Amino acid sequence: MSEFVATITGIPSLSYVNARVGPGTNNGKVGKIDKGVSGLKVLAVEPDQLGKGFNGKTYQWFKLQTPLGPAWVRDDLITVQGDGGQFGYDNISTPTLAFDLKRGAPKAPAAPAAEPAKAASSSAAVLPPLPDEKPQQPAETKVPEQQKAPEAPPSPDDKAAAGSVPVATGKEYVAKRKGEPILISMAQNGSNARPGPGTASGNRVFKLPYKAQAKIIGVAKDPADKRFYWYQIEYKGQTGWVREDYQRLISGFEQFGVQAEDLYPAPTENTWWVRDYNYGDLFNSSVFEHWGWDLGGNIGEPIMCGPHGGTVIKAATCPACGSAGRSSVQAGFSVGDPRVWNDPNWNYGLGHFVIIRYDHDMLPDSTKNYLAQKGFSGAHIFTLYAHLSGFSVKAGDTLGPYDKFAKLGNSGNSSGPHLHLEIRAGTNREATWASIKNGLMTPAVLFLR
Ligand SMILES: [Zn+2]
Repeated sequence: MSEFVATITGIPSLSYVNARVGPGTNNGKVGKIDKGVSGLKVLAVEPDQLGKGFNGKTYQWFKLQTPLGPAWVRDDLITVQGDGGQFGYDNISTPTLAFDLKRGAPKAPAAPAAEPAKAASSSAAVLPPLPDEKPQQPAETKVPEQQKAPEAPPSPDDKAAAGSVPVATGKEYVAKRKGEPILISMAQNGSNARPGPGTASGNRVFKLPYKAQAKIIGVAKDPADKRFYWYQIEYKGQTGWVREDYQRLISGFEQFGVQAEDLYPAPTENTWWVRDYNYGDLFNSSVFEHWGWDLGGNIGEPIMCGPHGGTVIKAATCPACGSAGRSSVQAGFSVGDPRVWNDPNWNYGLGHFVIIRYDHDMLPDSTKNYLAQKGFSGAHIFTLYAHLSGFSVKAGDTLGPYDKFAKLGNSGNSSGPHLHLEIRAGTNREATWASIKNGLMTPAVLFLR
């Protein structure tokens, strides 16, 4: 049997991955390991400490024998090969993305991990330099296969819930906001409701199905991973806590001091949550994960302008994507291939995209206040809608409230149909997208989750 080893594959936009002292992003960094480093012996495998995952599948973290010493790397950033029996994997004959593997019970007791005496600091010379120049484009999503083919079909109960709870949009949506505090689950495989605010609080109490409505009865931050609010909900006589990024807020939630009720609704009706903004409060050159939100959906799902209209700043056709809006993966590239990332014919990976400017005057008061606090007084918000299958506007067009101007797609550097939604603030109306990089902020500043 061959040794179970890993190769660092990473994400498209960075030349390295972060290796951590434990199995979760709540753990500190040991250092950075270059993409392409291979032959790293697997010492242990554990599920994500924070319970993070994609669409119901929890990330597994691999403790690897790295040039920095033993360190943990997440399973969507590595390929593995060899006999993984002692960690619950099969004998993998060809390098395979670890996230795509199914993990079962270990086939033999795990051998004690050999801890080398080598100190991490002694191998600093092998570290890649920090990139001076960050890419101008957002990181692209890695939509796992589960995204396209859920592990289990929804139960009849789920289907009934999904069918009976249409998501209101447009004026109807705004009118619904007052009153009862309500949310809708936007996790395609349902949201796990836990006994407390955080995955560490215990196993799931029940599952809130996709698009099922629940009443919000409390809000708290996860004591371990303080980035996220958790909502305490009531659903069919049960109570439990669900994480904010898997929900869409519908009405009455402002009383809990989370997002303001005056924000724009999400720009799509029938989508599901895939990936959160993960960067920090504002642009910060020392951290990089994902610059926007990814909303999964069916190709052709209409994308709407904000509730007070907007101005099209750029509407860019991706020559390599063609009229069918193909992805680079469909064209034979792997996700994040630098040839796509650096190619204007692929719109640098963004595919067909549209950028809309929402003038300061039309922004919600809560957004204006946020901008002022962050040193962006009077700034306009520019919103990028990427990976479209098509659009019906051109630069300079003025859009009315909730005008449908584009369709969700899979064009560019993408592994499954989704909308990448990204916002930047800028005071110059005619600013180019690249020039307002320092105005990058979470879409939650303008859009309701
Ligand atoms: Zn994205």
